[in-house]
Amino acid sequence: LGPSTDWLRAAERRFGATNYAPLPAVFQRGEGVWLWDTDGRRYLDMMSAYSAMSFGHGHPRLVRALVDQAQRLALTSRAFSSDRLPVFLERLCATFGYECALPVNTGLEAVETALKAARKWGYKVKGIAPERARILACDGNFHGRSIAIVGLSANAQYRNGFGPFPPGFERVPFGNVDALEAAITPDTAAFLVEPIQGEGGIVVPPPGYLSRCAEICRRHDVLLIADEVQTGLGRTGRLLACEHDGVRPDGLILGKALGGGLLPVSAFLADRRVMDVFGPGDHGSTFGGNPLAAAVGTEVLALLAETRPWERAARLGTQLMETLRAAALPCVREVRGRGLLVGLALDPALADASEVATQLLARGIATRDTHGNVIRLAPPLTIDEATLDEAARRILDTLRMLTP
Ligand code: PMP
Repeated sequence: LGPSTDWLRAAERRFGATNYAPLPAVFQRGEGVWLWDTDGRRYLDMMSAYSAMSFGHGHPRLVRALVDQAQRLALTSRAFSSDRLPVFLERLCATFGYECALPVNTGLEAVETALKAARKWGYKVKGIAPERARILACDGNFHGRSIAIVGLSANAQYRNGFGPFPPGFERVPFGNVDALEAAITPDTAAFLVEPIQGEGGIVVPPPGYLSRCAEICRRHDVLLIADEVQTGLGRTGRLLACEHDGVRPDGLILGKALGGGLLPVSAFLADRRVMDVFGPGDHGSTFGGNPLAAAVGTEVLALLAETRPWERAARLGTQLMETLRAAALPCVREVRGRGLLVGLALDPALADASEVATQLLARGIATRDTHGNVIRLAPPLTIDEATLDEAARRILDTLRMLTP
């Protein structure tokens, strides 16, 4: 196979239609914030694999941790512990301030773990009858694509054809505390929320939203579970996005960047009063917390503590948003986000975000659109100021060229 387009056609033949129509680039190599395609062209990675590649491609310390561990011991399954697992769990609990952490693999698996914990907590601790337990989530959410989780979604494309869904999953409007309070009944076990909706269009709720949610949940004895799969680990300018509102959720879901972009590593964190609802054999996974995941995850947490990437994300994100806003382009409805999770909401009458993403790719900027005609800008947190400035300039030039 030769040029990128041949690789694309070869992949499409076998992928079926589940793939999003891929943009016309096939990547072969990555280093830091850069990607190279099979034709040797270089692109700036402005989406970090949906925020999973926060430390940049091929981070030497993470690669070393992975390779060293692969040579020593890769897998024991959950039938046995490895010497790496307790180290990882200790560090995970210490970093985020929880008593317990349950390691799984992908983001959706950690969300499922949280949903199982919430339901069992509802039955065992709150005395909710199993057939009546309710879990609330938000309109516009994205928590993954398992059957239970798409049952929480409002998005027809995620849901249609995949029902019936488990009962008791309901939604309230995102950003509206009164609607949350009105929806809570004695049978409500948990409220699941993204501090900033990522896939939903980089939607930032009003200031104080989460802290008021936390207060309402506390008053009604409902677990507040934060899905920080995309927003966590420095992405939004704080270690966790919940910190912007001074909130410590009852349950915390982490994923994506926790595996340094090298392998799937996710976790559900909570204190004993929640986690102890699980008994032996209630939950688990062959690969959850495996030695490779534990070794890389431990190194990710060490890097976080040493490099404090949220400080850079806060500074550069503010700068990026200011530059984009200052251009005052008519096709840009809103520039929003926090830290290096930024959305450029385009006026659909003037610009189509997926077309803009294709044009950006042709100009060496790799990113995609998300819901609501929004261009997602989420580079690795290691990006430097000059590179980010150059990206902003190219994005603005592209928009100027495409729109009146
Ligand atoms: N939660 C959130 C907030 C996410 O953004 C995503 C992925 N985009 C997930 C869960 C699911 O993660 P995964 O794709 O690893 O299952």
